[in-house]
Amino acid sequence: MTDRKYILETGWNFDNSYLTLPDKFYTMQKPTPAKSPGLIVLNYPLARSLGLNIGMLQSKDGVEMLSGSQIPEGAMPIAQAYAGHQFGYFTMLGDGRAVLLGEQITPRSERLDIQLKGSGETPYSRNGDGKAALGPMLREFIMSEAMHSLGIETTRSLAVVTTGERVYRESPLEGAILTRVALSHIRVGTFQYAANWGTIEDIRALADYTIKRHYPIIENEENKYLSFLKEVINRQAMLISKWMLTGFIHGVMNTDNMAISGETIDYGPCAFMDDYDPETVFSSIDRNGRYAYGNQPKIAEWNLSRFAETMLPLIHENKDQSVKMAQDAVDEFSKLYNYHWMAGMRAKLGFFGKEEEDEQLINELLDMMNRYHADFTNTFRALTLGKFEETAMSGSKDFSDWLEKRKSRLSGQQEGIDASIQLMKNSNPSVIPRNHRVEEALSAAVNNGDYSVMENLLNILSKPYAYSPEQNEYVELPAEKNKCYKTYCGT
Ligand code: AMP
Ligand code: MG
Repeated sequence: MTDRKYILETGWNFDNSYLTLPDKFYTMQKPTPAKSPGLIVLNYPLARSLGLNIGMLQSKDGVEMLSGSQIPEGAMPIAQAYAGHQFGYFTMLGDGRAVLLGEQITPRSERLDIQLKGSGETPYSRNGDGKAALGPMLREFIMSEAMHSLGIETTRSLAVVTTGERVYRESPLEGAILTRVALSHIRVGTFQYAANWGTIEDIRALADYTIKRHYPIIENEENKYLSFLKEVINRQAMLISKWMLTGFIHGVMNTDNMAISGETIDYGPCAFMDDYDPETVFSSIDRNGRYAYGNQPKIAEWNLSRFAETMLPLIHENKDQSVKMAQDAVDEFSKLYNYHWMAGMRAKLGFFGKEEEDEQLINELLDMMNRYHADFTNTFRALTLGKFEETAMSGSKDFSDWLEKRKSRLSGQQEGIDASIQLMKNSNPSVIPRNHRVEEALSAAVNNGDYSVMENLLNILSKPYAYSPEQNEYVELPAEKNKCYKTYCGT
């Protein structure tokens, strides 16, 4: 008898280096086999870059692997232990609805975690069922892939499969599993777990492992733990600046949702801002606006302080010295963030080089956008295209004064206007995953089994800087501005 497995090379090439850590960092845990798995969406380019055989992934065996019913050769599934501050309160967490199959070593020798999210109970499930529903998993697929195309570091989504079972939330929903691909799933919360429930040697083992995996360049430095802290701080400063420059609101920046690799992780209640307003919050559970758009840099710094605390025993043997060194490193965050953000803002406005007036010009624009309820993405798009009349500020004296100042800033540049326009096109996405578009795609998929709306949306979002005619309808705002738009954690 011919077995498909022998016709198709799978392409899986697993290593399981996380298992070299002390065993308190994980529990061996197989995913719960899905009853009747069905492939909903597969990310072809990502599958290819992972070295996976697309035909195999689409076959019965492949879909069973993506649903946890079959364990790919070489995978040694685990649930990872971690803790975290959730809305400021510290608690033990861990993979309660996910298992890590292992690390795929790609044809380019990258090491990438392959995780099944929604694959059943684990010892860390607490009162949860370990499952996920189709809507939220598709939402993570759309949002994470959109972020990747925007050029923002993020975990990726390889596939979504349905399990053939119901999950019970407020109503019964279709169960699904997302295959998440990440540089790693090591979080600030993983270090907090080590610091709270482990020994100094456990923290050191985790730090050494993480440095080797994500920051090998500092491995031989004299105080590599201090350098590690500084590197993590810089990567976060860069990441958060990119969120801010595109209007992305993560929604639940708990310390367990901050990856040490510097990737955006855990797409729960995230959404992109429409009108520019630093106080924008979409998440239904964020009642006090802790994770509002404008608070994100401050919260990142708070989370990094929690990370720094876990590193104290490694940075210096003298506690006071260690605190001082860690504090100095954390204090750099706002400078680094500002540096990255200013560079990004200059590019958004077509400015080359640095001029003294830049900061004021930028702040004046943002202030105006806030006052005139200007859409964040479309304002920068209109400036890029020179269609000033399309902004909410059009016709006001404020705006025409500002445009004059900007014009003189631009005319002082050696680079010509064409170079400026190109810079702006590369820095201002023409399309983002607008809330109403995402909802429309999810509703067609989940309620009607129609995946064409999502496919079109994914296509459009894969080239956010294209400024192509087919994007035009995706640029439009909803008939009713969705000020009251609410997102949910999707657990
Ligand atoms: P999240 O909101 O996805 O960042 O998850 C926070 C914590 O809750 C993590 O420890 C998750 O593993 C856990 N969790 C979320 N949903 C479930 C679920 N349905 N069953 C068990 N644990 C869950
Ligand atoms: Mg999480």
